[in-house]
Amino acid sequence: MAYDPDNIFARILRGEIPNDTVAENEHALAFRDIRPQAPVHVLVIPRGAYVSYDDFAANASDAEIAGFHRLVAQVARSEGLMLAEGSAGFRAITNAGEHGVQEVPHFHLHLLGGRPLGRMLA
Ligand code: C5P
Repeated sequence: MAYDPDNIFARILRGEIPNDTVAENEHALAFRDIRPQAPVHVLVIPRGAYVSYDDFAANASDAEIAGFHRLVAQVARSEGLMLAEGSAGFRAITNAGEHGVQEVPHFHLHLLGGRPLGRMLA
């Protein structure tokens, strides 16, 4: 699937659409989901043009992959979700493609927490 440069997260990265930024670094941006499914619901996206998780994992540079995951950890810490710091836990998921019910075709990780989440995310 070709990357659509006008998808909504690409537009957020270009500053064309506002977002509630939580944290950012050279390689990634974290912002609050506009339709939160839990008390903490943050989306982490790479700055690079990757359609989905498999595209990112296969094609991003080591620096991009590290930068992305370090930002996930930074947000987990700032949102009080770090297990090592006494959190009750969290869920980190990414939806991919039609069967994964991916709405926005720019890779993003959902970081959810702040309540018991059940066996699956509905
Ligand atoms: O289904 P998918 O994993 O693609 O989810 C996309 C997420 O992006 C949704 O949870 C939706 O609420 C969120 N979103 C957002 N800001 C937008 C558009 C979508 O937080 N402007």
